[in-house]
Amino acid sequence: MGTPQLTKNQSLVMGALAHSDGPMSAYTILDKLRDHGFRAPLQVYRALDKLLEYGLVHRLESLNAFVACTCPHEHEHDHGVTAFTICEGCGQVTEFHDEGIEQRLSALVRAQSFKTEKTTIEIRGHCKSCA
Ligand SMILES: [Zn+2]
Ligand SMILES: [Zn+2]
Repeated sequence: MGTPQLTKNQSLVMGALAHSDGPMSAYTILDKLRDHGFRAPLQVYRALDKLLEYGLVHRLESLNAFVACTCPHEHEHDHGVTAFTICEGCGQVTEFHDEGIEQRLSALVRAQSFKTEKTTIEIRGHCKSCA
C-alpha cells in the first residue's frame, strides 16, 4: 500500500495541519484555506474524513479539533491506542503510543466481548513550561 494518494483538497488540509503549531478546528482550517478555493466547511470535513481514515490525522474529541499524526509511518501500522497530552496553558498537544497501555486496555475490553473501533486517550493538564 504505502502512502495514500491524496486529492488536492486533502493535501491542502494535511499541509495546513502539518504546519500548525497546535490542533485546529475545521473552521480554522477553512479560514486558512480560503485563498486556496475552500468555501464551505463540508469541503474541509470531507477531506478530514479521508485523512482520519488514512490515519494521517487524529481528532481530539475534547477540543473538537484535529492534529496531524506525528508518529512515524515508515510502514503500515495500526494505530491501536492513540494517546495525547493536551496542555491547557499553551495548547501544546503531544501524541504518544505505549504498548503496555494498549495490551492492558485491549485485555479489559476483550473481557467484556466489546468490539473496539478506535481508542483515543486525552490527558489534559499543563506541560513542563506551563506548570
Ligand atoms: Zn498517530
Ligand atoms: Zn503548555
